[in-house]
Amino acid sequence: MENVPYKIYLTEEEMPKYWYNIKARMKTQHPPFINPATQKPCSKEDLQAVFCNDCIEQELNETDEWIEIPEEIRAFYKMFRPSPLVRAYFLERTLDTPAEIYYKFEGNNTSGSHKLNSAAAQAYYAKKQGLKSITTETGAGQWGTALAMASAFYGLELDVYMVKVSAEQKPHRKEVIRTYGANVIPSPSETTEAGRKILKEYPGTGGSLGCAISEAVEKACTTQSCRYVLGSVLDHVLLHQTVIGLESKTALDKFGVTPDLVIGCVGGGSNYGGLIAPFLGDRLQGKSETEFLGVEPASCPSLTRGKFVYDFCDSAKTTPLAKMYTLGCGFMPSASHAGGLRYHGMSPIVSQLYHDGYMNAVAVTQNKVFEAAVKFAKCEGILPAPESSHAIAAAIDAALECKRTGRKKRILFGLTGTGYFDLSAYKQFNDGTMQDYVPTEADLQKGFDTVPRCRVNEDLL
Ligand SMILES: *Cc1c(COP(=O)(O)O)cnc(C)c1O
Repeated sequence: MENVPYKIYLTEEEMPKYWYNIKARMKTQHPPFINPATQKPCSKEDLQAVFCNDCIEQELNETDEWIEIPEEIRAFYKMFRPSPLVRAYFLERTLDTPAEIYYKFEGNNTSGSHKLNSAAAQAYYAKKQGLKSITTETGAGQWGTALAMASAFYGLELDVYMVKVSAEQKPHRKEVIRTYGANVIPSPSETTEAGRKILKEYPGTGGSLGCAISEAVEKACTTQSCRYVLGSVLDHVLLHQTVIGLESKTALDKFGVTPDLVIGCVGGGSNYGGLIAPFLGDRLQGKSETEFLGVEPASCPSLTRGKFVYDFCDSAKTTPLAKMYTLGCGFMPSASHAGGLRYHGMSPIVSQLYHDGYMNAVAVTQNKVFEAAVKFAKCEGILPAPESSHAIAAAIDAALECKRTGRKKRILFGLTGTGYFDLSAYKQFNDGTMQDYVPTEADLQKGFDTVPRCRVNEDLL
């Protein structure tokens, strides 16, 4: 038996007091947001109409490596953190691999995912600014739940635009959000200009994240003392999620373990960016050789098959343009069960890292993801979220590769959440009726055709 325990917990004293800003260590910064009207970089004032002031400061900060976590947020974190870092002894035994496998489990709170890490911070900053209400979108519902919890805690009103198919597929998720006092509006809705336009163009559509974002942004911009809050993609969201990587690193350091490979699922890139940030910081300073792998669904392959161009963050083309790997803001992903990974774009930080060769990416089909999920549930006990199971599938592949080559890699992956609200997906898998959707080149081209043909994209398209 090794001397690493099954679970490594941190004491309150060992919990991070600072977030880690990887941009301060990156050799190349991602290009700035562009205002689509002027084709010039967005000013702070452009962003202040939409986002909270403190979040914008963090968004634009490229120099401070460490950013202090306010006392009030650290207090909230204590409610559900530290999260356990687990040595997956039982999974290792099942796979009969020489690899060491570790996972960081973020599903131990009512929202069931890592999203509460940023919700806690963003709701706090909205309250601190004296705002009355905030708006957001939610796909699978984890983010809406997390933000509803944080809004209740700090005493803010919240409108959640929930992708219509999710609201219908997951009535229980919707009820949790309502229980915390937030309004849930299925999107597209008749309550906004953007929603009405999309309903007219695509009657009967089940909606998409991009569309729900348009509605939430419009609501924030047309309501007094209200701002919009986003659960992924943006740099400040990744920053808040670095508590995942920092806790993991502190826990592993206690046992002298440096991972050879860090794996995470990528939707908008926030949990992955937050998990890898401190390990990548070491690599960028020449202190380690750690490799990084992002895992996405084959049905929505923004990194592995997308284009690195400027694109809108929403489908109604109302947000600033971000330089990122994208399938096109009009890309409508097929009905995959990993709702949290169905986003056309990708975090600009993760996109830049991928472009510069600091990480790899792989796309996995649904059935393979659920095979991994079931294998994991049986030996490690936790019923994983479909999103998280993308990381499990890649970790299993890496461990089996170690078995073939005899190499004893140390693998760390992010287990972002639980699958309790995804039982209809498990039912399909158990019934053998789950389909694998892989878009054709023609499907992708339809999405690429929606990328704006504007000046900043001239040399890129
Ligand atoms: C939202 C979500 C994701 C994907 O979001 P990222 O911003 O890419 O981290 C992954 N797993 C779970 C459980 C989620 O809820």
